[in-house]
Amino acid sequence: MVAVEFTSAFANPSGSPIRELFPYLSKPGLISFAGGYPSPSLFDVEGLMDAGRRVFDDPAAALQYGATEGMPALREALAQLSVVRGISCEPDQVLVTTGSQQAFDLLVRIFVEPGTPVYLETPAYPAAIQALRLAGAAIHESPVDADGLDVERLAQQLEEAAPADRPKLLYTVPSFSNPCGTLLPQSRREALVDLALRYGFFIVEDDPYGELSFDDAGVPPLYATGQNRAGEDNPVLYLSSLSKTVAPALRVGWLLAPPDVRRRCAIAKQTSDLCTAPVAQLMAAHYLNSGRYPANLGRTCAEYQRRMSAMVQALRDEAPDTLKFVEPRGGMFLWVEFEQKMDMSRLFQSAVENGVLYVPGAAFYPLGGRDQAMRLSYATPTVEQIQEGARRLGRALAGVAVPS
Ligand code: PMP
Repeated sequence: MVAVEFTSAFANPSGSPIRELFPYLSKPGLISFAGGYPSPSLFDVEGLMDAGRRVFDDPAAALQYGATEGMPALREALAQLSVVRGISCEPDQVLVTTGSQQAFDLLVRIFVEPGTPVYLETPAYPAAIQALRLAGAAIHESPVDADGLDVERLAQQLEEAAPADRPKLLYTVPSFSNPCGTLLPQSRREALVDLALRYGFFIVEDDPYGELSFDDAGVPPLYATGQNRAGEDNPVLYLSSLSKTVAPALRVGWLLAPPDVRRRCAIAKQTSDLCTAPVAQLMAAHYLNSGRYPANLGRTCAEYQRRMSAMVQALRDEAPDTLKFVEPRGGMFLWVEFEQKMDMSRLFQSAVENGVLYVPGAAFYPLGGRDQAMRLSYATPTVEQIQEGARRLGRALAGVAVPS
């Protein structure tokens, strides 16, 4: 057997804590609040089938390698979509990526080496934690509250940090975050951009959920605030995705960043996948140009809001004195904490035995030491499944609190 050593990053790696829950999903009758999957019932199948047929209008383009930066038709469509969101954007500023996950990975490759200080809003998106850990970043947690990143605390943290520990990057999901569902208010957005300008770091804004707003609660991306305050010197790097609003299988994401950052990401992408699959890019472009996106987005927001309200109500009914949470104003997630300390491994076992799954809070804390929370997604289950799942969770919670 060949015994060659792995790189130090991969000598003893831990996989995605969410993907590790997959084996439980095969349990018959299980209701899952764990996934971050969009609802398959909201895919615009007809519109995507039409777009799929049009892909072969130009078979040579569909079947050939494409430019690393992305196909012109898609860059144009994504620039227009960015403009609708409140960003000023030209097609040649868009770097198409294979999911927004790739865009983050490219940024990590061009900016982070072992020991590079990176601030991470916490609780944090687990795949961002994983990418930074594998790169050997010196991760610092920046806490969030009910309104997202606590920018005042961050200001204090930056003030107190030794210059060598100040970040090169700060990662945040300002609009309907994963896992907390919070929306960063405009005043905090402005203060955050000011901090980035003052201390000289990039803010990585990950925005797959910003358009999934309930009651028109959304605000323009942080990137727009950066443009307004600093023009060409915008300290915000913008990542977005069609995964939650069209379909994750397309694997279409995009990055907006200054030319020197974009160029280096394109070079990193050349050694990763050369280009995002042209078939998928053309399908996405045809779909966005078909004019069906806004109506399907509206339908998706309305349905997620209905499911969110059902989950909030059901949790209040089934576990009235046990759970603490803030009602999300958009997105796919509810972040739940407990009134009393819980034995988290017993709670998880009991939930699985009762036939309901969630993501345990420990997955979202990069530096460990905290676990008293769980992330529930209301995007995929039906309202009936949400009600039944909440009953099961209520049963699991009974008797698991640690006596004080
Ligand atoms: N960022 C966040 C915050 C996410 O929740 C997700 C999907 N779970 C992604 C990035 C990855 O999205 P994509 O499918 O575009 O790679």
